[in-house]
Amino acid sequence: MKISPDFRPASMIRGYHAHLYYDGSNKQWAGHLRREIARLFPTAEIGRWRDKAPQGPHPVSHYQVAFTPDLFAEFVPWLSLNRKTIDILVHPNTGDGYEDHVQNRLWLGNSRDLMYDALRAIESRIKKRRAEEAAAAAVQAAE
Ligand code: ZN
Repeated sequence: MKISPDFRPASMIRGYHAHLYYDGSNKQWAGHLRREIARLFPTAEIGRWRDKAPQGPHPVSHYQVAFTPDLFAEFVPWLSLNRKTIDILVHPNTGDGYEDHVQNRLWLGNSRDLMYDALRAIESRIKKRRAEEAAAAAVQAAE
């Protein structure tokens, strides 16, 4: 079967983040979710509480859960059924952080406007670092 260059395979997704957005009205439930996620999905990596907002591209307080593609079919529907009023941004990690947050994302609950300037700044720092690393590797290879 010939694969059209217009389409990309899901296999290019290395992992996912779920960002659980909370405020004072639902932080307690966010805590219950956190404990239950740790119990049911022990391979998921739960990040620290990030009360300060905005932080990076995220406009409200949140914590992040990083998980592998094999967990998606079980974990994302579970979040959908149990989130109550917690809005959740789910995005794949393909290596292009800007596109992953802006275009490739899913929302459970209400969508939010992200801090797009922060995303662009983060992305340009990552691209600059990658270019520097590639240049350093090229120098090393030449030696
Ligand atoms: Zn993320």
